[in-house]
Amino acid sequence: MVNCSICGRPAVYINRISGQAFCKKHFLEYFDKKVRRTIRRYKMFSSKEHIVVAVSGGKDSLSLLHYLYNLSKRVPGWRITALLIDEGIRGYRDITKKDFLRVVNELGVDYKIASFEEYFGYTLDEIVRIGREKGLPYLPCSYCGVFRRYLLNKVARELGGTVLATAHNLDDVVQTYVMNIINNSWDKILRLAPVTGPLDHPKFVRRVKPFYEILEKETTLYSILNNLYPKFVECPYARFNIRWMIRRQLNELEEKYPGTKYSLLRSLLRIIDILSKHRDEIIHGEIKTCKVCGEPSAHEICRACLYRYELGIMRD
Ligand code: SF4
Ligand code: ZN
Repeated sequence: MVNCSICGRPAVYINRISGQAFCKKHFLEYFDKKVRRTIRRYKMFSSKEHIVVAVSGGKDSLSLLHYLYNLSKRVPGWRITALLIDEGIRGYRDITKKDFLRVVNELGVDYKIASFEEYFGYTLDEIVRIGREKGLPYLPCSYCGVFRRYLLNKVARELGGTVLATAHNLDDVVQTYVMNIINNSWDKILRLAPVTGPLDHPKFVRRVKPFYEILEKETTLYSILNNLYPKFVECPYARFNIRWMIRRQLNELEEKYPGTKYSLLRSLLRIIDILSKHRDEIIHGEIKTCKVCGEPSAHEICRACLYRYELGIMRD
């Protein structure tokens, strides 16, 4: 049995890079220190904020909500609202929604559920079916990602949020980094910065990732130790996503060479630094306003409107 390097009690976690072991109490202290250092390092919040926390009902986002809600008790100028986007995925989102409701009710935090059906007239399941019937070339995760990002920004703004916090952890960030290199998507790499926006558009809500430097196994342990750990359900569309293969391979690399993920993160930060000096070339000029819906967009018409047009589900 391994004992805590600080107090000698049985350890629940070993940091494989430093070799330090932590018991429950000292793991939670280590976790808190690490997140606070990330928040400070990237200047994520000011003393007066309405923080909208994007919550999916999964372990990472429930941990983020729990963490920020507890932190907000010490910052009188903070207000927290949890926002869940219900894409309408049968057998998945209906289950994670229950975990979301359990935790927001236990904490007593304000929340909002915004659904694809309410805003676009169709659930993701229906959108995927229509896309297949029309022979469109997109994968379920493409619709899901575009519509979800669109709604997160729009609804966070409608709620009066000054900042939108997402639960992307170090693993998510480096996986997306590798995916974007494979796809040659440099504009998307810019989105992987720890803080993004308001990107010269008044309708953009600033985004922050407080778990940017936290490993997935650390957020998982935080959720277990705080009785947040939800029922494990996998999205039925996940198998179409290349992310899961990259995830597995990065985990194998980390196992063999501890520190691989941190190295990738440092490489990403360096690339973001270089790319931001060429931002105009990469995102083809300034952020525009979508001619159809009035939301911020990289092109004359935003991706969400383009998808809706191709699917034939435009409302007006
Ligand atoms: Fe959406 Fe794809 Fe994630 Fe499922 S796996 S929730 S479809 S992005
Ligand atoms: Zn639009």
